[in-house]
Order: sequence, then C-alpha cells, then structure tokens
Amino acid sequence: MINEQISKETITAVAEKHGKDSLSQITRGVEQVARRWRETDGSAEDFQQFCVDHFLADETEREIVFQRFIKNFESLKGNLHRIYRDFNWMLHVDAGEMLPLDHLFANYDVHAHVNEDMFKTRLAFVILLNFPLHTLVEKSSQGADWSRRKWAETRLVEKFADRIPGDVKQQYTSAYTAVESYVYDYNIYMGNVLDENGEAMFPKDLKLISHWGLRDELKGQYANEDGHSRQEIIYTIMERIITQEIPAAVINNPDVRWQPESNRLQAANGNSIPSSSSEGGKRYEMLLKTFAAERLLDPHTPDNPTLVERRFNDDREILETEVEALLSEVLSAPVLQEIAALVETRLGRKLRPYDIWFTGFISGGGYPETELDRMVQSRYPNVSHFKEKINEILIELGFTAEKAKYLQKYIEVDPSRGAGHAMGGQMRYDSAHLRTRVPEGGMNYKGFNTAMHELGHTVEQVISMNDIDYYSLEGVPNTAFTEAFAFVFQARDMAVLGLESDSPESAHLETLHNIWQTMEIAGVSLLDMKIWRWMYQHPEADAASLQAAVISLAKEIWNQYFAPVFGCKDSPILAIYSHIIFCGMYIPDYAIGHIIAFQIEDYLKSHSLATEMERMCKLGCIAPQVWMKQAVGTSISVTPMVRAAEAALDAL
Ligand SMILES: [Zn+2]
Repeated sequence: MINEQISKETITAVAEKHGKDSLSQITRGVEQVARRWRETDGSAEDFQQFCVDHFLADETEREIVFQRFIKNFESLKGNLHRIYRDFNWMLHVDAGEMLPLDHLFANYDVHAHVNEDMFKTRLAFVILLNFPLHTLVEKSSQGADWSRRKWAETRLVEKFADRIPGDVKQQYTSAYTAVESYVYDYNIYMGNVLDENGEAMFPKDLKLISHWGLRDELKGQYANEDGHSRQEIIYTIMERIITQEIPAAVINNPDVRWQPESNRLQAANGNSIPSSSSEGGKRYEMLLKTFAAERLLDPHTPDNPTLVERRFNDDREILETEVEALLSEVLSAPVLQEIAALVETRLGRKLRPYDIWFTGFISGGGYPETELDRMVQSRYPNVSHFKEKINEILIELGFTAEKAKYLQKYIEVDPSRGAGHAMGGQMRYDSAHLRTRVPEGGMNYKGFNTAMHELGHTVEQVISMNDIDYYSLEGVPNTAFTEAFAFVFQARDMAVLGLESDSPESAHLETLHNIWQTMEIAGVSLLDMKIWRWMYQHPEADAASLQAAVISLAKEIWNQYFAPVFGCKDSPILAIYSHIIFCGMYIPDYAIGHIIAFQIEDYLKSHSLATEMERMCKLGCIAPQVWMKQAVGTSISVTPMVRAAEAALDAL
C-alpha cells in the first residue's frame, strides 16, 4: 500500500529530523518497511510518523536497541521451543501409548502467530527500519570481511524478511504433521514376510519402519554369509512400496503374512484371508500434501516464491546450480566404477541396485552384527546408561574431562519412537535432547551407531548455542553443517567401542566407504530436487501422475549415473527414501553434509577434534562458504574426497 511517492516523502521527512548524513541508511530502511507495510498496519501518515519516530541515527541508541532485541528474542524463541518440545513429546518420545489427543497437541503450532505478532506490534518494523537485509550474493562475496557484529545484525533482521499470516502457518504445520505421522506409522512386520516356499525369513518379532529400518536391516545382512536372499526380499519390498503395489493390509499390521515376490497374502493365526488391495498411491498423495502446504507459503515470500528458492537461497544459502554441480561432480567421478569392481570382488557376485548401501568397506562390516550387539547391549542396557556414559564417550573422542562433563550436563537422552533424532534447545542453557531407540534388553549396534550420529548433533547444538558471542548467530550455517558433525561422530563409533584398528588399510577403506555413501545420497538428493521442480511445473498433477513422474525421474538418474557403475538399468530404488515424502526437499543437505564432513574430517586428521569442533561451532550461522573458509581454509568442494578415493584405491 505504500507507493513510491509516499516512500520518497517519508525519506525526506526522516532526513530532515536525523540529518542528511544518514541518507543511504534512511532510504534503505524506509524501503524495507514500505514493502511489508499493509493497510492493517496503519495509514500512509502513520507509516511516515513511525519512520520519523523510530529511525536511529545515533550509534549508541542503535546498540541499545540491538541488545534489547536479541535478549528478548532469545526469551521468545527459547520458551516457545520448550512448549513445542512438550506438545510433541508423545509423538517423538516412546513414553507410552499415543492418544488421538497427542496428534492434536502436535498440531498446535506455537510459532504460528509469532511472525504476525512481531509485525502487528511493529517490533519487526523497528528492526527493518534500522538494520539492512543483504542478498545471498552480497553475503557470499563480501561476508568474509564482515565483523561478527555485522553478521549478528544481518541474521537478526533476516528473521523478519518474510511476513507469513498465522492461519497460513497453522495450515502448513498441520499438513506436514499429517504426512510425518504417515511415515512414522509405516512399519513392516518382518516375521510375517515369507519366501516363495512359504518359509519365514526374519526373526519373529522384527518390525521395521520404512525406509530406515528396511535399509539398515539390508545393510546388516552383508555381515551374514547367507544374507543375500534376505537383501533380495527387502529390495522387493522396497519396490512394492515405491510402485504402491504393496497390499494396504501388510502396512503396520501384525496379523497378515506376505510373500513379497508374488505379492500374495496369507492370514496369520487362522484368520480369514485379508483383502489384498494395494496401497494405491497414498504415498504420493502425502507428497502432494506437502506441495500444497508449500504453495500456501509461496505468495508470502515474494523474494523466493517457491520452496526450491526458499530452500537454496534462504535455508541452505548455496545456489541451486552450485549444489547441482557438486552432486553431479561426485556422481560422475570415474573412480566410482573402479570401486564398484572392488565391491564385486568382495561380494563374489554382480552388483545389485541395493548395493548402494554396501557397508563392507568399514571395519564394522567385518564384525558379525550379533557380536557388536552383545558388546553394545552390555555397555548401554538402557537410555539412562547411555546418558551416564556420554562424558566417557566424549573423553574418548578427545574432549577434556571438564568439557565432557559440561556437555553431558546439557544433553538429555530420551527413548525415541523413530530411529532417533536430536533436538537442540533454543535458548542458552536449555538442554539439547538426544532421542534414541533402546529395545528391551539393551541398545543394539544399529541403535548405537545412530546414537553416535545424534550425539554429534547435540554436542554441536550445545556449543553453538551456549558459547556463542551473539544469540542471533547461534547454530551453524545450515543443516548440512550439523549433519557434518553428526557424521564425524558416527564414523568414530568403532573407536568408541575400542574396536578400530589404526592400519592405513582401514583408513583407505573408510575413504571408499565415504565416497560410496556420498554417491548414494547425492543420487537421492538429485531426485528430491527434480521431484520438486516437476511438481512446480505440474501444479495440477494428481497422485497417479506424480507417482509415474517420481519413478521415471528415479530411473532417469539411475540410468545416467548409477547404471555405468552398477551394470544394471532402470532401478527405481532412489525413490524409497521416506524423507522425499515428508521433509520438503531436505535431502540435499545430507549430501552436502557428507561433502563438508569429509573436508572437516580431512582437516581434523592433523588437528584435535575437540578443540577444533569447539572453534568451528563458535563461528555460528554465518554464510556457508564463509564459514567453510574460516573453519578449514577452503570453500565447499568434492575434490578432496575424489582425490582421496583415488589414492585409497591405488594404495589398496
Ligand atoms: Zn542427522
């Protein structure tokens, strides 16, 4: 509602009161407010009066306003986060039976009205009037020379760059919560999965969530001599999920036996034969639901009017083209074909598409899973034992006893419903929560491996929240960086168990494992990106055409990058990732995380993990490429990983 004429008059009026010396700051500030001022905020005269009253030409006043804001903002964000954590407790934490009520609590978005209220109270306008917004290009090109204070101011004002109405946010959250529940309730009772002779192939009580549980079971089977047939059947289950031919009756249902190969059902315990109608596209209806939710936001983020732009320009702060180039570079590395030959030799068979999850490079692949399980079970019989031993783990990783104790104090450990996750606090000295799955009888190796990953997250979260110089700089540049620290910890799980040998061979194998894993997730990332681009190009598409597109894009990526490595064509396996369905294009962060992690890991070979991680975490959420240069001396690049893989192959 504020046109150019009113803006101009306002700039003149503010300059008359505060002096022409500040003209460029006044112009920028008034324009930032004008673009977001609505009729409900007041008349043109109100707008002008507001700008005259609240512009701060004096540096001391600006300082006071800045400090007041970050103090109160921490209180607002931190306390709301505590409520969010409580309201979602039953969904995230295995704390007894879930009630329908718990879903209603999870639907209650405590943040829904914050943005709107900040504008209604005009607090947002005070910040927008006095602190400049910067583009991604400015931050990437000049940010290296900015002071910490300038970064802190930039991050503060960016919180008000978008103005999203509360009812829109609420609808958005409800949609994602519904899709998240669909994913978290998608279990397969493996004890009821039969081969073509009608024989059970898995332990009676094994219940696996798609896709993590299925994938991890498949990985675990590499250590078993006769694991191959089980891997094949898991692959068939995955294909049935992707193509939606899976009978709806086998999802989350312990009473049905299933032969995935023929897709036939059998009743368990003398019940009648269940209906064999397929899931029939629900998976893709869920994905469309998240797309519809994102489209609700689109008109309210005019600088970045699609999820694709928001993810890259706002959240990740790395250009889409830059990310795509990194992914494509790693996927096209000729060294992958040489590694594939080595994997074939190790497996003694031709590669299958699911060998994207081959784990035999790392020393852990050599130990039978049952032995590792026993070892972990006796160390961590329950959740509280894991919490008690956090300081020992951290000391093992090189942290001082004092620092380890401090970190342990601010990390709570809760039993998880899902595979595990980490939830940092949002104000200083509020604990980070590590969620991990500990079955009856004690933690198993898979659970421990995940718990180490989540421990990496929580250590980062505690340091980058509690020890930061400005609250608005808390955290890391984007989620790829927190994944990097999680991977660094996860990769040291064997060392923590006292198992890893320090031979150069195991280091080389670790390198091959790294690039293989990065290849896998880079493929899924590209698919995730292409799916979102496709949805924006086909906004009216229904679930059936989305399903066809997802499968065709998955095969296209497979045939371009994976077929030359694996020697087989047309696999849709990349589409099995549940994160594609419920995370709104989050997956590329995992791939970037692997790339960044490798660079950090490489750097840490000649430096101390504990000291350097602390230094890096205190850099806070400055722009990714700037962070990377300050952390390890170079920008984000796959070259070190590819070079290291080549060298490892030569040495082996
Ligand atoms: Zn993670």
